[in-house]
Amino acid sequence: MKSKEWMESANCSTADPEMFFPDQNSRWGLEKAQRICAECSVVAECLDYAQQYPDLLGIWGGLSQNQRARKRTDNRKAVRSHNEWALDQPLREILG
Ligand code: SF4
Repeated sequence: MKSKEWMESANCSTADPEMFFPDQNSRWGLEKAQRICAECSVVAECLDYAQQYPDLLGIWGGLSQNQRARKRTDNRKAVRSHNEWALDQPLREILG
């Protein structure tokens, strides 16, 4: 992975890397890392980056791999819903 400029400001750069790869069943482990992410000034950049690479393991942008997958699905649904609504607009006006 090529390092990005924002990574230099990452809160996790001085933390134990193991903390960001908690056991899937460890809610406590996940929350511990998320507390560090919550205070991170580059959380948005980190999440944007991770969302480009769905296979990334561990916690990025305060979310686990499963949470990021759900967020991508929700975002796709929202875009699809908006596009369907937008495509409907001219028809509504014509049929008005
Ligand atoms: S959001 Fe979390 S994982 Fe991402 S750089 Fe910040 S501390 Fe690290």
